[in-house]
Amino acid sequence: MSEKTEHHKCLIIGSGPAGYTAAIYAARADMKPVMIQGMQPGGQLTITTEVENYPGYPKGTMGPEMMEDFKAQAERFGTDIRWGFVSSVDFSGPVHKVIVDEKTEMTADTIIIATGASAKWLGLESEQKYNGFGVSACAVCDGFFFKGQDVAIVGAGDTAAEEATYLAKLCKKVYMIVRRNEMRASKAMQHRVMNTPNIEVIYNSETKEIVGDKAVTGARIIDRNSGEERLLAVTGFFVAIGHEPNTQIFKDWLDLDETGYIKTIPGSTKTNIPGVFASGDAQDHIYRQAVTAAGTGCMAAIDAERYLAAQGVH
Ligand code: NDP
Repeated sequence: MSEKTEHHKCLIIGSGPAGYTAAIYAARADMKPVMIQGMQPGGQLTITTEVENYPGYPKGTMGPEMMEDFKAQAERFGTDIRWGFVSSVDFSGPVHKVIVDEKTEMTADTIIIATGASAKWLGLESEQKYNGFGVSACAVCDGFFFKGQDVAIVGAGDTAAEEATYLAKLCKKVYMIVRRNEMRASKAMQHRVMNTPNIEVIYNSETKEIVGDKAVTGARIIDRNSGEERLLAVTGFFVAIGHEPNTQIFKDWLDLDETGYIKTIPGSTKTNIPGVFASGDAQDHIYRQAVTAAGTGCMAAIDAERYLAAQGVH
């Protein structure tokens, strides 16, 4: 534990669109926000390619560049952005405690949670065994390593569809393993998949096992209707089956829904603890867009500012 605990008016946990937007608003409101960036500075957008649906970028922009812009704007107004991750919190008192990197204690009058969500895994032992040796949850990060090779991707949502088309540009062949007889992805994304000749969609199928020696050499899949098994000869295996909120450290203090998303008072970012506000994907399982995350980040900063004013903190 550090000898002297730092105290701040506003501490922002997480650095995606929600966190940076909260920082811009909080800094401009003279709340002198400190941001703890977390494990993946910039959040999920740093592992995507093109963003075409964020207003203000008529020609689209790249996710990592967009987050650099968000960061620069937050810094311009004086946000104190720091490396590190919040390993635990204590919301038992009127002043909220957080522990950074398991050793440094900080306190704050208001906390804005913007910890986002992380990729889900299938839960296979072989998936863990080959993680980093052919298994990945980020096509955009790792697709490059499989240039000219055959790969598989599991999932049927927009992410899977987007990543499959991305991989198809680099790889010889992409098998898309879909567990039902239809995809969840938007019609536009499905259309893109169907129009990509080197993607083969395999419906009604589950992955039984990922096989390999030092690295992945194949995936054993099973047809859910016929029970028939098939071995796909692939060197890359991508998982794109959705995300879960990064809210574990808050579970002893905050009300979460059954899937772990932080519950907020409708129409606000207020949690069950006064002075603690939640924004972005950590509290949103419905929209999960950069623009909605940014919107709730803005709301959280305004809610925090009003809370401080009501408490007489200047
Ligand atoms: P989703 O939750 O939308 O989709 C997850 C997919 O994974 C579903 O098709 C689901 O199958 C499948 N799945 C889940 N678990 C398993 C499993 N154990 N085995 C096999 N398949 C499984 O997540 P996404 O990450 O795709 O998207 C999240 C949100 O982000 C969505 O709202 C999406 O629209 C949005 N998004 C938008 C983009 C854009 O506009 N450019 C790009 C990417 C995402 P099933 O359908 O059977 O449930």
